[in-house]
Amino acid sequence: MRPLRATVSRSALRHNLATLRACAPKSRVMAVVKANGYGHGLLRATRGLAASDGFAVLAMSEALELRAAGYRQRILLLEGVFEAGELAAAATHDLTLVVHHEAQLRMLEEARLPAAVAVFAKLNSGMNRLGFAPECYAAAVARLTACRNVSGVTLMSHFAEADAADGVVRPLAVFQRATATLPHPVSLANSAALLRHPETHGDWVRPGIALYGASPFAGECARDFGLRPVMTLQSAIIARQTLQAGEGVGYGQSFVAERATRVGIVACGYADGYPRHAPTGTPVIVDGVLSRTLGRVSMDMMAVDLGAIDTADVGSPVELWGENLAVDAVAEAAGTIGYELLCALAPRVPVQEIE
Ligand SMILES: *Cc1c(COP(=O)(O)O)cnc(C)c1O
Repeated sequence: MRPLRATVSRSALRHNLATLRACAPKSRVMAVVKANGYGHGLLRATRGLAASDGFAVLAMSEALELRAAGYRQRILLLEGVFEAGELAAAATHDLTLVVHHEAQLRMLEEARLPAAVAVFAKLNSGMNRLGFAPECYAAAVARLTACRNVSGVTLMSHFAEADAADGVVRPLAVFQRATATLPHPVSLANSAALLRHPETHGDWVRPGIALYGASPFAGECARDFGLRPVMTLQSAIIARQTLQAGEGVGYGQSFVAERATRVGIVACGYADGYPRHAPTGTPVIVDGVLSRTLGRVSMDMMAVDLGAIDTADVGSPVELWGENLAVDAVAEAAGTIGYELLCALAPRVPVQEIE
């Protein structure tokens, strides 16, 4: 069998959830499990996060999958419904809807539903993606509060720069001004705000990436926040080469050896979700030793330096990221963020859930 596989640790998910809870002890936790649980698998993620107070997803289909699996906690549709036809299912299955736009508000006002739904009314506090403008917000909340199809309103916004030291100051001021007279519960914080800006915690925090043991902060390691990596991507050396000085490896021969170099070929490529843009020097662990990639990542394989690793041979284990190598470090070398690497894990990679 091809040696590439990923493991997903339930105990790491539980640990990270407990760690984040301790960080925001007065808030309820809405675990964000969109994008297939950040690449971990929706139900694999929720099994580890079963103690959360709610789950946030994007698509109705994901929400229904969670209800079908028996989850009774709050389920939030992060972009609300995309068409009026979805409202009845939302009401039947007790889903909570983000309402971010006049058209969604009107759909709710005009619907005939089997039950009222809870909503998160979204304010645009400066991100300029979704949400009511500050000057329209109180009126939108008033209409939602008065709407017979709405059972309760939570005030919500999302930060564009919560990973920056002073990144929540301005949007928080916008939020406080727009909601000063409103008595409803509040939900603002993503992982970065949860970890670094306690003034944003409110009634519901909405962590995503931190639950999976990766960092929302560029250049900072999730371990420093007491978080444990959930996904480990591992493979093995399937061939060995010795390059002579002047010889290259892989497409484009972008790495050329300056001296005789032992090279391992690893069964993992960009079709597995490994970033093709990871340059020579991207960290990788071979037979328990930190090493580096060499040359271009191809579709199914990549090359690694065996130079300093005397024990390495065909069959030696390789860790691409996870338990012993932060996905954040690999992402940084590849010019991206851990989020993207985790979400991009390809369906062809077998995933094993471990304790
Ligand atoms: C994805 C998302 C989150 C989680 O963000 P992280 O940075 O992964 O913690 C929170 N809130 C909203 C609205 C989101 O879309």
